[in-house]
Amino acid sequence: MTFKIDLHSHSTVSDGVLTPSELMERAHANGVQVIALTDHDEISGLAEAESKASELGLKFVNGIEISVTWLGRTVHIVGLGIDPTNKILNKGIQTIRSGRAERAKLMGMKLEELGFSGAYEGARKLATNPSLISRTHFARFLVQNGYCPNMQVVFDKYLGDHKQADVPVEWAKLEEAVYWITSAGGQAVIAHPGRYKYKPSEFRSLYKAFVESGGEAIEVITGSHRPDQYAKYADVARKYGFLASVGSDFHEVAPGRLDLGELPPLPDDLTPVWHNWF
Ligand code: AMP
Ligand code: MN
Ligand code: MN
Ligand code: MN
Repeated sequence: MTFKIDLHSHSTVSDGVLTPSELMERAHANGVQVIALTDHDEISGLAEAESKASELGLKFVNGIEISVTWLGRTVHIVGLGIDPTNKILNKGIQTIRSGRAERAKLMGMKLEELGFSGAYEGARKLATNPSLISRTHFARFLVQNGYCPNMQVVFDKYLGDHKQADVPVEWAKLEEAVYWITSAGGQAVIAHPGRYKYKPSEFRSLYKAFVESGGEAIEVITGSHRPDQYAKYADVARKYGFLASVGSDFHEVAPGRLDLGELPPLPDDLTPVWHNWF
């Protein structure tokens, strides 16, 4: 791989801190040549990002990261090369976004009970997009107000799946999310598989259902994987014949997190998800 590519990033349209334009500027400054914006359950930042990318001479890929519930846990499915005007995709993501407002209120109440006063208002103010209040906004509020030392502590203690202040959501079904992406002409990618706490047999059934729904790729190199997991998921890609993807999952500059484009190359024998794009 002789060029810098980053196929997973977030803007203020979901839970990132840079606007779509600022994100493109940072990617360009970092020497990235191909970038995808993949906001959670949202595509309203794509037009702005694309226009800024084209101004900068950066190749832009329309993307999304869809929240899915699989066997009672959350899985993220990235869609790459989607048509943002596609009606099936738009309708689908609108349905899953609609549960977020109520969930945010409940999460706020739980945090309030734990003594974190003003959590709901605080998170709401940090969310630029009122229809996309995420756990990240609550976590930032707790860190910024000195309630917790860092984001990791917030997720480990309060907001991680099934922790004290987590409010579980029934997101999209795996098959639906892949269908929305492929209907919009995109390629579906399992995001950061190393983050999911499934048993090996559950992982096998996830991969099988994903392939049967029309999914094609898996993230091997991601900001959410440790180096030993790069190797592990490279093996999964080989075994299941998945195309391989690469993305920082950049949300903001933070200690221990990768910056845009700051990614090691894929192993040579894997077929990159972009192999027939250019
Ligand atoms: P939500 O979509 O509201 O459930 O929020 C999920 C988001 O929380 C993810 O996209 C991440 O940005 C963030 N997140 C989850 N786990 C962690 C963690 N351990 N540390 C930092 N951020 C996390
Ligand atoms: Mn996020
Ligand atoms: Mn994710
Ligand atoms: Mn992400």
